Amino acid sequence: MGSSEIAGAVVRRWLALALEVITAHEEELGRLDAAAGDGDHGATMVRGLRAANVAVEKTSDGAGRLLIEAGAAFSDAGGASGALIGALLSSVGRALGEGPYDAATVTKALQAGLSMVMRLGKAQPGDKTLIDALKPFVDALAAQPADQSLMAAWRAALPAAQAGAAATREMVARRGRSAKLGERSLGHPDPGATSLVYLLQAMEAALTEECA
Ligand code: ADP
Ligand code: MG
Repeated sequence: MGSSEIAGAVVRRWLALALEVITAHEEELGRLDAAAGDGDHGATMVRGLRAANVAVEKTSDGAGRLLIEAGAAFSDAGGASGALIGALLSSVGRALGEGPYDAATVTKALQAGLSMVMRLGKAQPGDKTLIDALKPFVDALAAQPADQSLMAAWRAALPAAQAGAAATREMVARRGRSAKLGERSLGHPDPGATSLVYLLQAMEAALTEECA
């Protein structure tokens, strides 16, 4: 199997594992969102991932194209996270294109995705959003030694995302629905940052299964 078939298989496996892990944590994510938001984050993520899984079933395209399709389907899930995660997937897919699917190219694609989400949502680090998990992860990925495999680099960058999501517990929301209730969000990690870590962990598992 060539590297482009592997990359397509990784994306499909990632979407399947992401749906599994988010479904397992749907209630937890809903509870976190209920602290200062409307409690729908778990349900929205499950709906988005179901749609994304269906979208990639129908096509045999490469990883870039699959992510574009997955992002478009995810956007229909509604809510801030539907729009933002959908845009993230599509923008990473566009930047990834035909590959190569090495650590450097994937890092650049994720940097493009991060910029897109920051432009769209206007959130900065510290605003208690998924950016507080995504940006530390992308920065850590970019800081990995150039000769590492994507799988090794991804694994090494994960703790930065986890630390970033954990740090949102002490933040007051300044973006999105929960910003209206400001202080009520204090003491709970941000639901979007929490679910983003699950998505990144699912990708580590997919890379391990398909590339190891
Ligand atoms: P909604 O707020 O529309 O109900 P969700 O509950 O699914 O959407 O998602 C809430 C999550 O979306 C938040 O926890 C936060 O991480 C993320 N979010 C909301 N607004 C923004 C924004 N402007 N920029 C980045 N992330 C955001
Ligand atoms: Mg919500």
